Amino acid sequence: MQRTKVKDLLQGAEVGQQVLLKGWVRTKRGNKYVNFIAVNDGSTINNLQVVAEAEKFSEEALKDVTTGAAVAVTGELVASQGKGQAFEIQATSIEVLGKADPEAYPLQKKAHSLEFLREIAHLRFRTNTFGAVFRVRNALAFAVHKFFNEKGFVYMHTPIITASDAEGAGEMFRVTTLDPVNPPRTESGEVNYEEDFFGRATNLTVSGQLEGELAAMAFSDIYTFGPTFRAENSNTTRHLAEFWMIEPEMAFHDLKMNADLAEEFIKYIIRHALENNREDIEFLAQRQAEEDKTKPQNERQEMTLLEKLEFVVNNDFERVTYTEAIDILLNSNHYKKKKFQYEVSWGIDLQSEHERYLVEKHFKKPVIVTDYPKDIKAFYMRLNDDGKTVAAMDILAPGIGEIVGGSQREERIDILVERMKGVGIEEEALWWYLDTRRFGGCPHAGFGLGFERMVQFVTGMGNIRDVIPFPRTPQNAEF
Ligand code: ATP
Ligand code: MG
Ligand code: MG
Ligand code: MG
Repeated sequence: MQRTKVKDLLQGAEVGQQVLLKGWVRTKRGNKYVNFIAVNDGSTINNLQVVAEAEKFSEEALKDVTTGAAVAVTGELVASQGKGQAFEIQATSIEVLGKADPEAYPLQKKAHSLEFLREIAHLRFRTNTFGAVFRVRNALAFAVHKFFNEKGFVYMHTPIITASDAEGAGEMFRVTTLDPVNPPRTESGEVNYEEDFFGRATNLTVSGQLEGELAAMAFSDIYTFGPTFRAENSNTTRHLAEFWMIEPEMAFHDLKMNADLAEEFIKYIIRHALENNREDIEFLAQRQAEEDKTKPQNERQEMTLLEKLEFVVNNDFERVTYTEAIDILLNSNHYKKKKFQYEVSWGIDLQSEHERYLVEKHFKKPVIVTDYPKDIKAFYMRLNDDGKTVAAMDILAPGIGEIVGGSQREERIDILVERMKGVGIEEEALWWYLDTRRFGGCPHAGFGLGFERMVQFVTGMGNIRDVIPFPRTPQNAEF
């Protein structure tokens, strides 16, 4: 007999059918006459209940059917007597494929804390919460490809190992095959990377943008969706050392078109998740509501997770310039009461507390902030006519702050070279990048969306470590 997954059984099955179910036992309870075994196979948040009558199954026969064990069950699909689900399986055979010693198995019936589950990241997939989170993550990833392919974008793979630092933030992981203890040195005593594998110093990519731009100058519209690496030495709830980024790049686009596309894209992928993973999101909303009850009144969410997502897909994002955003912050009571930890003045990079104030307290919706001071943004962003700001945009989301960073790119080679010099990048180092300005350069724009921050937003998970299967953070690469 062919196995059927729980999701399909619950959706399209007929009562009276003989079925084969395979999955992992979540719980077993029962009495003298009958045992109820809840089985989950990861296809849905729902378990399927298996009814094993004592007449057919002795205590001995079910002794290894314990929480965590892998089982194969055959039986008849029948209408369920209990409330909740429409179906259950009246078992005729139950085979234990893999035991899970109840004394040793760490996942017990009680709810475990997220901190504890992070320590057993290899097993946490088996909980309702992480089942839901990673199914939603999958739905969002699928929607990313769907959106861009429907729009005629070409999916471009950019290199993981690079010699450039697109962001110039110096947060790179070195890639080297040199002896770490005793590397070859030049006469002046510096590490001699000419003797390294690639004949030069290389690192893991912090962004695929520069390479993405090259491809956009041939395909018009491209996107990347790959892992990026940043040696962030801070521990926050929104930074990982390894995260996935979606970076579309569009020729013949300006900042406004860029912002329009980003907004449409975000709404599209959220809508896809709401339509395809509603039960998971409802479960996560419930989870968040319960977590909320433990918080003081002023820290509780004004909307449930579902309300928030519905609101976001159905309303325009707010758009303000950086200069306007600074004015709003300076004129806020929050500022007057000295409640911001970091200073506020024209020229600062917005801190997460500032971003969240704008989104959560002031506008109460996602905000697109444009035209940041040039000194706090990357060299490739297009200089505005005022000579002080660049055509940058960040999209800020409630609960998180920045989820998107983007810009119109500087296509004027003389200005670009000038800005590179300003941050100490030699022309020779990026000769290939400059070639796209020399040969058929055109106005173009793009953005980077941190995929995990997006997953955080849609699942309501407070910590970015809980939306990536195996988080990489300082002092932590166990799995
Ligand atoms: P932040 O200000 O939060 O450090 P950033 O401005 O350094 O972010 P960008 O270089 O603009 O980030 O990268 C584009 C997007 O990638 C960000 O908007 C964010 O969504 C995501 N991102 C950046 N750094 C990280 C990280 N360490 N972990 C997870 N996502 C990140
Ligand atoms: Mg950063
Ligand atoms: Mg930033
Ligand atoms: Mg940014």
